[in-house]
Amino acid sequence: MNVLVMNCGSSSLKYQLIDSDTEAVLAKGLCERITIDGVLKHTPAGKETVVIESPMPDHKAAVKLVIEQLTDPVNGVITSLSEIDAVGHRVVHGGEKFASSFLITDEVIAAIEACNELAPLHNPANLIGIHACQNLMPDVPMVAVFDTAFHQTMPAKAYMYGLPYAYYEKYKMRKYGFHGTSHSFVAHRTAEIMGRDIKDTKIIVCHLGNGASICAVDGGQSVDTTMGLTPLEGLVMGTRSGSVDPAILAYVANKENKSIDQVINIMNKESGMLGISGVSSDFRDLEKGMQEGNERCKLALEIFSYKVACYIGAYVAAMNGVDAIAFTAGIGENNVFVRRLVMEQLGYLGISIDEEGNSRRGEETLISTADSKVLVYTVPTNEELAIARETVALV
Ligand code: ADP
Repeated sequence: MNVLVMNCGSSSLKYQLIDSDTEAVLAKGLCERITIDGVLKHTPAGKETVVIESPMPDHKAAVKLVIEQLTDPVNGVITSLSEIDAVGHRVVHGGEKFASSFLITDEVIAAIEACNELAPLHNPANLIGIHACQNLMPDVPMVAVFDTAFHQTMPAKAYMYGLPYAYYEKYKMRKYGFHGTSHSFVAHRTAEIMGRDIKDTKIIVCHLGNGASICAVDGGQSVDTTMGLTPLEGLVMGTRSGSVDPAILAYVANKENKSIDQVINIMNKESGMLGISGVSSDFRDLEKGMQEGNERCKLALEIFSYKVACYIGAYVAAMNGVDAIAFTAGIGENNVFVRRLVMEQLGYLGISIDEEGNSRRGEETLISTADSKVLVYTVPTNEELAIARETVALV
């Protein structure tokens, strides 16, 4: 079965065509600058990336171009649209309505629309992508896979905020958590690598990318995670502040003569590693800066690693123990320095670093010594494959 995996942002669209029988990626690509002008980068498996500049006034035009490339006589990997058997859509926010993936129907679309308020930047874009695909492929079954669904198993003591209870009742104000597809995929893979039944295993997954979150997975279920109502809570990230004293919002708004929305925008886009270092949100630039003697780059990396180690400690408490810790996503898979700083803080868990293992990047590796009381791994994530698997399971 060929599954088209779609991840639509407000002006971008990432896609992969996956053969679910072999789990091979047949082609992948990215449309950028949708509604502005339009650039498509399309990579058929084993071939060079082709770059196509073509007007994309809306997402429908972008999806049309993607299909044209997938079926192109030269760059294509299928001969016609009829070879796409199903489409899996990443949807960021499923609120409390979706605790798993769903086959897309009119009712499901209405329920996703009802979550728009909780993710105003992401959900409307995801819906535009769904509508564009339905328009061009009306008979192809489609599945919505939610970033929040995996975390719906969190107990109330973990997801409730210390706010008037009425806000939860009136506005569904609570912690939802994100990156659920990745946390679930990596936790299952970690248990597999360990040769253990996930039902009897306590795993802490550290998804460290531009957006970063940590999840406590007990018996295969999310019991706590660092992101909240929105992806702004928790760790310090590339450009996001993560958790701060909430009183800072009013303080900065007054001092800088800004609205609360403007301050939130600064906390989303100009803070975190970029804000602290004043150099970059990209960890490669920060490491280079540090090696060249930039103290603020070093400080940013230390703050990031410290927060990761502190949340790991919190989640050992949340689960009353831990068997394994898994690092994943761009930084988790590749940044040797950050992993070392984090692990150096975890000696009290009986963890010692395997320097050779930790020097490797982007591959499944044990990075603690084999006799560590808690095993630490690098486990590459694969959200697209996880979405394709969920899609196949539902169609
Ligand atoms: P997102 O998907 O959230 O945009 P990623 O998971 O791609 O983010 O992570 C981006 C971060 O990962 C960047 O800070 C980058 O420095 C780091 N990163 C990605 N690939 C590599 C690599 N090959 N070597 C070192 N760092 C990397």
